[in-house]
Amino acid sequence: MRYHNITKDDMLNGDGLRTVLWVAGCSHGCKNCQNPITWDICGGIPFDEAAKKELFEALEPDYISGITFSGGDPLHMQNREEIGQLIFEVRERFPHKTIWVYSGYTWEEVKDLPYLKLADVLVDGRFEEELKDVTLHWKGSANQRVIDIQKTLESGEIVLHA
Ligand code: SF4
Repeated sequence: MRYHNITKDDMLNGDGLRTVLWVAGCSHGCKNCQNPITWDICGGIPFDEAAKKELFEALEPDYISGITFSGGDPLHMQNREEIGQLIFEVRERFPHKTIWVYSGYTWEEVKDLPYLKLADVLVDGRFEEELKDVTLHWKGSANQRVIDIQKTLESGEIVLHA
């Protein structure tokens, strides 16, 4: 897997202060995507052991609420295996931190991925220019949903993050 950036103390991509991993690779091609530089799966730099160490160190402080995987698309087919491993590892090492995932895929398309069941929130769906709304919280267009994964799994129907 390759990535573009690790941002720290981020307030814009989920609840609280978060560490955000911006991965390379997205195949959705949304019109007026704000981050087209991230589409190329071969872009950015390798997510190597040093990057992983940086990511985990950034997660350690008590004031960090959790990690957000964004991009690009963390659930791009070629990112899934490594993102899955990372989610397993974060859940094990930081059981009280929250895990958010942004993806252009819908919940229905990815809900069976085992590691996604360990995450807390999925912001799902492609960015639709016609449904763009800058007043929305945590998402860019009205079709996207900020899904509470654990409550959704419990109830069997989609529960949005409060
Ligand atoms: S899913 Fe996100 S990164 Fe991918 S094209 Fe759409 S807006 Fe851009």
